[in-house]
Amino acid sequence: MSDYKRATYDAYDDMIDECESVVTVGGITYPASLVWQRTDPIAYDVSMSDWLSELEANEEYCHVCDTFQWSVVYCDCPDAECGDE
Ligand SMILES: [Zn+2]
Repeated sequence: MSDYKRATYDAYDDMIDECESVVTVGGITYPASLVWQRTDPIAYDVSMSDWLSELEANEEYCHVCDTFQWSVVYCDCPDAECGDE
């Protein structure tokens, strides 16, 4: 799988943790994103790719520069590479 910026993983983890409950084991809670990534990294990666594709279709993410359009550092790829409009 591709490597993404730390910020991209963080955004994905935040999205998961907003949607999923924490996991409690032995009285200790773990973020769902961490549990998922550690127990089934392939499914985690596949889902992340799907999520990023969806965002890219909505022009909220650019895979060329691995940047979210809502992030502080705006994508500065030529329009041709980042999708028109
Ligand atoms: Zn870009």
